[in-house]
Order: sequence, then structure tokens, then C-alpha cells
Amino acid sequence: MTEILHAEDLSPPPGSSPSEMFPVLTAAQQARVLAHGQRRTVEQNEIVVELNEPVTKVFLVVSGRLHALQVSNNQEHIVAICNPGMFTGELTVLSGRRGLLRIRAAEKSELIEIEREALQALVETDSELSDIFLRAFILRRLELIEREVGDIVLIGSSHSLATLRIKEFLTRNYQPYSYIDLDRDADVQELLDRFSLSIEDLPVLICRGTAVLRNPSNEEIAGCLGFNEGIDQAHVRDIVIVGAGPAGLAAAVYAASEGLDVLLLESSGPGGQAGASSKIENYLGFPTGISGHELAGRAYTQAQKFGAQMLIAKDAKGLTCDRRPYKVLIGDGQSVPTRTVIIASGAQYRRLNLDNLAKFEGVGVYYGATHLEAQLCSGEEVIVVGGGNSAGQAAVFLAQTTRRVLVLIRSGGLAETMSRYLVRRIEETPNIELHPNSEVVALEGNDHLERVTWRNNQTGQTESHNIAHLFSMTGAVPNSAWLDGCVACDQAGFIKTGSDLTTEDLARAEWSLSRPPYLLESNLPGVFAVGDIRAGNVKRVASAVGEGSIAVSFVHQVLAE
Ligand SMILES: Cc1cc2nc3c(=O)[nH]c(=O)nc-3n(C[C@H](O)[C@H](O)[C@H](O)COP(=O)(O)OP(=O)(O)OC[C@H]3O[C@@H](n4cnc5c(N)ncnc54)[C@H](O)[C@@H]3O)c2cc1C
Repeated sequence: MTEILHAEDLSPPPGSSPSEMFPVLTAAQQARVLAHGQRRTVEQNEIVVELNEPVTKVFLVVSGRLHALQVSNNQEHIVAICNPGMFTGELTVLSGRRGLLRIRAAEKSELIEIEREALQALVETDSELSDIFLRAFILRRLELIEREVGDIVLIGSSHSLATLRIKEFLTRNYQPYSYIDLDRDADVQELLDRFSLSIEDLPVLICRGTAVLRNPSNEEIAGCLGFNEGIDQAHVRDIVIVGAGPAGLAAAVYAASEGLDVLLLESSGPGGQAGASSKIENYLGFPTGISGHELAGRAYTQAQKFGAQMLIAKDAKGLTCDRRPYKVLIGDGQSVPTRTVIIASGAQYRRLNLDNLAKFEGVGVYYGATHLEAQLCSGEEVIVVGGGNSAGQAAVFLAQTTRRVLVLIRSGGLAETMSRYLVRRIEETPNIELHPNSEVVALEGNDHLERVTWRNNQTGQTESHNIAHLFSMTGAVPNSAWLDGCVACDQAGFIKTGSDLTTEDLARAEWSLSRPPYLLESNLPGVFAVGDIRAGNVKRVASAVGEGSIAVSFVHQVLAE
């Protein structure tokens, strides 16, 4: 039976207290909530929020008691209790997605019912209640994730790329799930039999207790979980933002908070490349660092608080650049019309030039060093390839839990490519070993990477070692192919903006305005490029965030033209 969570017996996430997760509102605070809601009496056992139905309301208990229940195999387990002064809800209420829990009156109760839109108005206008509600929602979601509460079960193997992809997708979207590892859990066969599954079907996602998805795509998972339900794709938006990395999320927060009608498109989940960073230490205001995942989670909640909408697992596949409003194509003949576009589709890791690389991606070769990957190589030897900041961070992070980290770089040293603080950390960490002038030349293994060979380009000597984990951090290529030549790019495919655009670039797009392009504007009027996708970008979270916010100020000017 699931443990009961309530204020008295919770061990809260670090830095928070049970009273922050289940705050009791004062009479004065309750009166302010009532101004946005209405009173409602419910009978004992009445259900006020049903599992898997879109969450459109929260309830504040005036008298009586509500139970939040997890439902599995038709049995209810109490997950939380709301006593007088407490309110229901967690992050789903901001997104309007389907509920993870059922909420039932434990006795006849007096409630204040607040509709989602009214709650949004409340958190935008009442800063004290905004803090209380948002903090509780975030902490409750973290607790649900920690306790794997929800009705999603993933069955897979830690030696499978598809399993890693699905785990990453669920984690990036803050979706609680239970994980059963085929290689470690003896009872898994019983579960497979129950759902008539074979090993070949893995990884399998059992979604909402009934739907069985065999090796599903991210889009299928998003569909089953109802991530994109209720989002109108037909009306003309003020702004469509492509990509929910730091740049896109920042643009969404500023645009939505300034009253614009915003839709974000994201192929995976919020966070972008920064989401793959275990600890960002140079972002303003976080002296002890913050993980990219946490930063993205906060930004995503903030964007939703102001009413921005996000289509998850939806790729922008094209842009109609010959007429306005523009249309961003999203596949299956669907498109989203919009007056302006902010392109924040960032970049992707460069891949090592090795014939059998694909065979080991996710099963020994990784492109991010987060807690997910760190768990896979705890106590072992690992290789980090690359001499930039992301490689440095990965090495320092992995050194905490692995036996030895070998950093392979093609150049003679780190000074020119890595921040000084990271170079110093690497020098001071005894289990990090730097191999300059070195290049990986072969990968070997059966189901998983087992052996890596590299060559010292100065001496010509090769070395082979039994190492099963390689972190490839060798720079990035822009995600701009989907634009198919619609906007002017530099030779490497990064989008040119503002004063970088030549008269030829403008002529090619038939630029007809009397003004030149604004800062961050491409050669298509009202189409902006921000963050790592922009030519001349500086590959920093802070600059991506800054550019996202600056672009929004020019969007206002374009909309007024
Ligand atoms: C491991 C690592 C550590 C880092 N550490 C730091 C650090 O400590 N400090 C620092 O300042 N910077 C750091 N960086 C760099 C920083 O993360 C990037 O500069 C920043 O993420 C760029 O943000 P962005 O929003 O422009 O692009 P991205 O973060 O690349 O986000 C782009 C988003 O667009 C989505 N997307 C792509 N194509 C499409 C499409 N067609 N349709 C819909 N969505 C699409 C992607 O899925 C992605 O979510 C690090 C990078 C990495 C990889």
C-alpha cells in the first residue's frame, strides 16, 4: 500500500518543509481565494477530480476532508489528505493535462472550488498566494515522481537505447512513472505474461493501466498521456516559438507575461541542451549551481503560470515563408498559423566519425551526463571526449561517482576551449586523467560497448581499454534543416540575423519594409532566431535566455507595424 503523505509525516525534498507542500491557508488567505472561486458542498465519497480526466479545478477545504488516491487494479490507496485550510492540485492543473490521482471526499465537506482560469488569474495577481500555490504544486509533483506515483509503468532494459530515450522523455516532461528493469527484476515475466508480451516487444510502456505501447515513439507517448489535448492549433497566434530550451522558454515566459498569445512547439520535452547538464554553475543567481533539468522545470512552470501553451513531442517540420500569417508545419498535413515566429531550435551534439557508432548509442555512448547516465556507470571507468565546457562539466560530475574519468581531446590542452574554473577543477580532481592529442578510433562490444581504442596523433601510438561508457561532448550542429532554406543561414547552417544579413540575403527574401531587420530578426520580417541556432551565438544559457526576452520586445513592434 502506498504511504500516506500529509503534513505530519512527510520527509520533504531538501530545502522545503511539509508545511510548504501542504500549506494551511489562514482565514484571510481563504477569503482571497473565495473571491476567485465559489462555495460547494460535497457528500461523503463524492469524487471531485477523476483520474485521467483533464484537471480543470482545484479545491480548498473549508470543513471536512478530501483524500487524494492512487488507483491501481481498481484499488484505491491514499496518497495525501487535505484537511481544512489545505488545497488540492499539483502541476497538472496549470497545464490542464489529465489528473494523476483521484480526489474523493472522505466525509461531507465544505469546499471552495476554483476553476483553472480563475486560479491562473489568482497566481498572476496575488504574489503571496502565487508563491504558496506554485511551491506546493512543484513540491507535490517532485514527491509523486520520487514515489513513482501514477499509472505508467515502463518495462525495459538499461542496455537498451529505446529504454533510455523513453526514460529521458518522461523525466524531461516531469511525468511520474514506475520502472521495471528486465535485467534485475525477477517478477517481470509475470507482468509480461499478464499483458501477453514477449521480450521482443520491449521496451513496453503500460499507459494509464490499460494501453500497452510497444517501443512507442515520443509522439505516441504524448498522445496516450494526453499531453497536447485541449490546445487549439487552428487560431492565428501572436507568436509561435520553436524549441523549448532556455531561449524558447525565456521567450515564452516574457511573451505570455506581456499578454501575447503564445504557442511553444517542442520535439522532446522542456530543457534543450541545458537539460542534459548535471550542474550549471555560471548562471546568474545560482551560486551553488543548478541542474539544467531543474532550471527548465522552473521556467516551464513559470511559462504555464502566465498562460503559454506547449505542444510536446511535436516537431516543426517546415515554415511557409511566402505568405503571412506564417504557418509552421507540424506534420500529417497540420500547421499552426502565426503572425510572428521565434526560432529557438538550438543545436545537437556532433557525432564521432566511427562506422559502428549507432550500435552503441544509448548502450555505452551517451550525449548527456545527467543523473540518469551517472547511475549506469557508477564505480566504473568512463571516457569523456571533448575539450569544451560541457565536456569539462561532465568529467567533474562523473568523477564523483565513477572510478576514473579519462578525458580525450584532440588539441594539446584545455586552456583555449574550456573555462578556467573547469580546467582548475579537472587538474585538482585526482581521478580525472587528461589525454591530449588523442582521438577515438574504434569501439567494440556485443550488446553494449565493451572496449574503446584511441590514437595519440602526435606519437601515432594506439591504446585499447576495456571501458564500457563513453560520453561524447564534441560540439554541436544547428537544428535548422527543417527550415529548408526559408531563412538565410551561414555556411554551417546557423541562422543569420540583424546586421549580419547582407543586401543579397534581404533581396532573396524580397524584404519590402523600409526599416532594416531588427536585432535577432532573420531576413523574413517577424521571424526571429535566438540562442544556439543563431549565427554568432555564444553557447551560454544566460545569453539564450537574454536573446529570448529581447526578441519578444521586437515582436511587439512587428505586431504593431
Ligand atoms: C552538457 C551541457 C552542459 C552545458 N553547460 C552549460 C553551462 O554550464 N553554462 C552555460 O551557460 N551553458 C551551458 N551549456 C550550453 C547551453 O546549454 C546552451 O547554450 C543552451 O541550452 C542553448 O539554448 P537554446 O534554447 O538556444 O537551445 P537548446 O538548448 O539546444 O534547445 C533547443 C530545443 O529545441 C528543440 N527542437 C529542435 N528542433 C526542433 C523542431 N524542429 N521542432 C521543435 N522543437 C525542436 C530541441 O528538442 C530542444 O529542446 C551546456 C550545454 C550542454 C550540452
